[in-house]
Amino acid sequence: MRLAIQSSPADVVIVGSGAGGGMAAYVLTRAGVNVTVLEAGGPWDNTTDSAMLTWPYDSPRRGASTRLKPFGEFDGCIGGWDIPGEPYTVAPGERFRWWRARMVGGRTNHWGRISLRFGPRDFKAKTFDGLGDDWPISYDDVRPYYDKLEQLVGVFGSKENIPNAPDSIFLPPPKPRCYELLVQEAAHRLNVTCVPSRLSILTKPLNGRAACHYCGQCGRGCKTNSNFSSTNVLIAPALKTGKLTLKTNAMAREITLDRTGRASGVTYVDTTDGSEHHIDARVVVVAASACETSRLLLNSKSASFPNGLANGSGTVGKYLTDTTGTDVSGFIPKMMDHVPHNHDGVGGMHVYMPWWLDNKTLGFPRGYHIEVWGGADLPDYGILGGIQNYPPGGGYGKELKQNYRRYYGAYVGFSGRGEMIPNEGSYCEIDPHVVDKWGIPVLRFHWKFTDHEYLQVKHMQETFRALIAEMGGEVYSPMPTKEDGYGIAAGGVIIHELGGARMGADPKTSVVNSNCQTHEVKNLFVADGAPFTSQADKNPTWTIMALRWSSRHGKHLLPPRSLRPTSGRRCGSSWISSFPVMSARGARPMPAYPSSWTSC
Ligand SMILES: Cc1cc2nc3c(=O)[nH]c(=O)nc-3n(C[C@H](O)[C@H](O)[C@H](O)COP(=O)(O)OP(=O)(O)OC[C@H]3O[C@@H](n4cnc5c(N)ncnc54)[C@H](O)[C@@H]3O)c2cc1C
Ligand code: SF4
Repeated sequence: MRLAIQSSPADVVIVGSGAGGGMAAYVLTRAGVNVTVLEAGGPWDNTTDSAMLTWPYDSPRRGASTRLKPFGEFDGCIGGWDIPGEPYTVAPGERFRWWRARMVGGRTNHWGRISLRFGPRDFKAKTFDGLGDDWPISYDDVRPYYDKLEQLVGVFGSKENIPNAPDSIFLPPPKPRCYELLVQEAAHRLNVTCVPSRLSILTKPLNGRAACHYCGQCGRGCKTNSNFSSTNVLIAPALKTGKLTLKTNAMAREITLDRTGRASGVTYVDTTDGSEHHIDARVVVVAASACETSRLLLNSKSASFPNGLANGSGTVGKYLTDTTGTDVSGFIPKMMDHVPHNHDGVGGMHVYMPWWLDNKTLGFPRGYHIEVWGGADLPDYGILGGIQNYPPGGGYGKELKQNYRRYYGAYVGFSGRGEMIPNEGSYCEIDPHVVDKWGIPVLRFHWKFTDHEYLQVKHMQETFRALIAEMGGEVYSPMPTKEDGYGIAAGGVIIHELGGARMGADPKTSVVNSNCQTHEVKNLFVADGAPFTSQADKNPTWTIMALRWSSRHGKHLLPPRSLRPTSGRRCGSSWISSFPVMSARGARPMPAYPSSWTSC
């Protein structure tokens, strides 16, 4: 294989351009650092390439899924469970599925935009119940950077003062839709907390981006850039600084070391022709997504690191978690025969249910939140499959068409998203027998849930069924049994995989320190979900990005002071003064970095 060597080294090379890589690129280029991002996928721009406002009948497939668009042809993300030429394996008898994006912006092109802060308890859960491990940082360490993130990206929601579901700096939330009002009423009667959801979608213009026009198609990518994607909220502004080089179709295969044991750069494959290249760098940041990051570290073997880079602890790839999940939907007769009206809203729920109970009164240790779906939106392929189950559903010809109109939108669904506790049986390693189409060894997954997760999911099932009954509805799926794991989604299926390079104070049991810097290679950082010490009953991406924004972590990504720009105005000070955000209190411009950063 040909190996081309790049002559001028980058200050920082970042692997991956998703939530973590995009945020690292944004922060560093704004600080005047020369950055190169290696992205395995190709370019894609939501403002030009999205299928927003495309009618299903405009496609002969009616929007049906394809191999690289499993969530439907119009979905904004190229990737999927099964990428041609890029296999992974799962240990016999175990269940794990791995979703991977292959495009600029990664999974942020179609993520649900549910943007929840972790709470104080989430960083210190072991202190409360003795399980898993505490993070070496606390909520108070991250809080200022959630603030900054929210002022840059925008998130709607409502102030609720729930201790472990901290409020953000919110834009106004959209009003509940018809079915969401019914859900909220039922939830209140059952004493389940149900509040406006928290999504990174603009309900007011922000930082030059337009407000949402409520087309309900966020998953396709937003042409008006009104929701968050790494591509147009982080990477595009980073490119505008002139400090970012974005290399697409560049699949990192190994992080190289110099003779002193510091990272010297990254070897990558140009996926358009299979040629191999090396890029020198003074600092390497890995943000390829949690499991890809484990794979890259494990594949970067050397005499100093025979078991994989920064893996002296043997914990690279270990303590993987995914959010626990299960779903229940039900037919709600009182929603039949509704007067047709536009209730598209944003492309996601307008209400949600944060964890509302005390685990001390329950048989499982950690909580979950509930995501709400239902009602009528733009009909897609395969709508109302199973109509024959609805009383008196189905029929033929005119009767069938009338029944579709009567029943369409007369349903609600609930998805539980809970906290899994890391365990030693859930990890990934290099499969010694399988390589991908570029010859790069692939991952083999092992997965285990314990009763902590199974009993939590049982509680979800019971709660969702109670909510639907309270709405006068009917569930057509039977309550899953213990033998079925109470309907728990297989590992990876909720697509919130975290861990593999966990954060900790002790280099013997963790991979990175509280700055996401590897204990063993000082100029190597991890910037995705791999450093998460634990999950939470929250979706993870807001915390992935806040950790990147954080000066605590971000300033350690900066190259040595001697390598930073010397003309003062090009560094922190110039962009701080031009940064268009205000402090949480709105009183004065909020500096993006502590003053120590600006003296370069
Ligand atoms: C359908 C869906 C809905 C979701 N909804 C939510 C939600 O509502 N809220 C939430 O918090 N999270 C949600 N998530 C999860 C969220 O998308 C991820 O947490 C987030 O994108 C992780 O960011 P990341 O940077 O680690 O990875 P990614 O966004 O996946 O980006 C990783 C990038 O690295 C690239 N890459 C991988 N390997 C290499 C390599 N070897 N060399 C070069 N580049 C490489 C990939 O091509 C990709 O572009 C959802 C995910 C999906 C799929
Ligand atoms: S619902 Fe709003 S944010 Fe989502 S795609 Fe439509 S306009 Fe964009």
